[in-house]
Amino acid sequence: MARYTGSACRLCRREGCKLFLKGDRCLSDKCAITTRGTAPGQHGAAKKMMGEYGMQLREKQKAKRYYGVQEKQFKNYFEIADKKEGMSGENLLSLLERRLDNVVYRMGLAESRKEARQLVRHNHFRLNGKKVNIPSIIVKVGDVVTINETSRSSEKIKGLIESMQSKLTPKWLEVDKENAVAKVVAVPARDDVDFPFEEQLIVELYSK
Ligand code: SF4
Repeated sequence: MARYTGSACRLCRREGCKLFLKGDRCLSDKCAITTRGTAPGQHGAAKKMMGEYGMQLREKQKAKRYYGVQEKQFKNYFEIADKKEGMSGENLLSLLERRLDNVVYRMGLAESRKEARQLVRHNHFRLNGKKVNIPSIIVKVGDVVTINETSRSSEKIKGLIESMQSKLTPKWLEVDKENAVAKVVAVPARDDVDFPFEEQLIVELYSK
């Protein structure tokens, strides 16, 4: 299935909540959830009853859109998460958090996960010293993410390093903001995910 190229705000309106897909705009008065909180489409404002399946489906869509993952890939993550020890839903969120594009976003070097994905694809990063351009790589404890030396002279990257200085970073990442280096020091736990997912609904959906 092709990647969605339409309006990001439309996705939030469809899910009825902020998915924080557009950086600073999401925190401003211009956010479409604030200005126009109804679902998109002609009948978007109509109140609809949602059954059990609908709620499970919406929760899965929410997580997929929040992390910018395609359907097939999302299902693959679930299968991996389900085979691991522990709660499948929490394992799933932990895997999604450890995607390289999410790490770049969480270390504060991008305004959104979409921007982080583009930066990774454009060869601006190294993982443990080696060039990487695959946003879906899952990092492990001990991995180190750095900016390519050649990218440091770019005005865009300089601006991103400057703006990361004031950003909060999660405790599972040890971030040296001055040098824009992040080390994974723990596997992200459920309370490190800063979105109120009801991951059990996703587990129920895939367990049918
Ligand atoms: Fe979603 Fe951000 Fe658009 Fe608000 S501004 S609707 S949070 S993408």
